[in-house]
Amino acid sequence: MITLNENFLKLQKNYLFADIAQKVATYQQTHPEAPVIRMGIGDVTRPLAPAVIEALHRAVDEMGSAETFRGYGPEHGYEFLRRAIVENDFAPRGIQIDADEIFINDGAKSDTGNFGDILGTDNTLCVTDPIYPVYIDSNVMGGRAGEFKNGAWSRVTYCPCNAENDFVPALPENSADMIYLCYPNNPTGTTLSREELEKWVAYALAHGSLILYDAAYEAYITREGIPHSIYEIPGAEKCAVEFHSFSKTAGFTGLRCGYTVVPKTLTVKAADGTEVPLNGLWNRRQCTKFNGTAYVVQRAAAAIYTPEGKQQVRETIDYYMENARIMRNALEAAGLKVYGGVDAPYIWFKTPEGVGSWEFFERLLHEIHVVSTPGVGFGPAGEGYIRLTAFGTRENTIAAMERLSKLSK
Ligand SMILES: *Cc1c(COP(=O)(O)O)cnc(C)c1O
Repeated sequence: MITLNENFLKLQKNYLFADIAQKVATYQQTHPEAPVIRMGIGDVTRPLAPAVIEALHRAVDEMGSAETFRGYGPEHGYEFLRRAIVENDFAPRGIQIDADEIFINDGAKSDTGNFGDILGTDNTLCVTDPIYPVYIDSNVMGGRAGEFKNGAWSRVTYCPCNAENDFVPALPENSADMIYLCYPNNPTGTTLSREELEKWVAYALAHGSLILYDAAYEAYITREGIPHSIYEIPGAEKCAVEFHSFSKTAGFTGLRCGYTVVPKTLTVKAADGTEVPLNGLWNRRQCTKFNGTAYVVQRAAAAIYTPEGKQQVRETIDYYMENARIMRNALEAAGLKVYGGVDAPYIWFKTPEGVGSWEFFERLLHEIHVVSTPGVGFGPAGEGYIRLTAFGTRENTIAAMERLSKLSK
């Protein structure tokens, strides 16, 4: 008789965005005239860059002609895109990455979730708290998280990030095999300095751990000296894989494309003692379970790296970061303690003393009609914080911030 992967039954219900939607819907039913502004969900709003649209049109036309039609492509992505990535995202930073260490994907969520396929189910985990939920839930599905007791998974080490430690996670005291780091961070919008990232690489090398580094917001870094890639740290090519996405960089949340870096120097010791390169194993996994990202979408992604594309993508990022600046200033002027928003499109702020995340969420909704995300929804260390996104329109951002003065003290 057929049985289930019982690990799926262990998943904790994530009510966060459903709960928010429910609360907003209820409020709007009773207050249909309230001009609600949504600053909760992390999706972009600006259209794709003209260079991307042109590339899409050209690629679509190629598909309509027998001479230029493309069927199945390489599972790991077309050479033109892999090479553009190496030449633009890595070589200028002095990072030696080869095109065959780049795996084009249909977005970073898939690969951050799927990478566990090639790793043992007995590995222990380490995550920062608060956290993007995919890292934990994909490991629950893979049977790696243990049991859920008292609000935490038994085989997961949580490294709290809050105002007390200036959002710099402490290294785990025990041994952790798989370490998920996301910088610039969603949800806190904070970054790790080079020195801090060096500590994690040293830890991973000393303990034989693998760092799964999510660089989805790398393009939002504005300050000098903040690492854009973990491979800026010597030794990371022996202990880290890195996930990138064009979703937030270039508005590809609906188009779907990103890439994963698996250096050839990255090996894991098998049970029989042989050192197995993860690059080959991941390639084998992809060739079996994935048939590549659409050709037209890869052409669209490559257009981001043309001179016009780069400039247009930069303009959109600057637009969002100007929103972030406006938000930071307004929230600080309202007397709130604000984090993030400098190297990331997320603003994370402390609720007033003694007010919980959900309570302040309700006040923002009821008093000034702004939809936020309660920090506690991303993990216990997020209690007492609120996340706002800078992905809205300028008009809405300004309007929402002007309403802050109407918030009761
Ligand atoms: C948005 C986001 C991604 C990107 O996901 P895609 O599947 O590429 O759209 C990855 N990681 C984090 C933390 C994110 O917030």
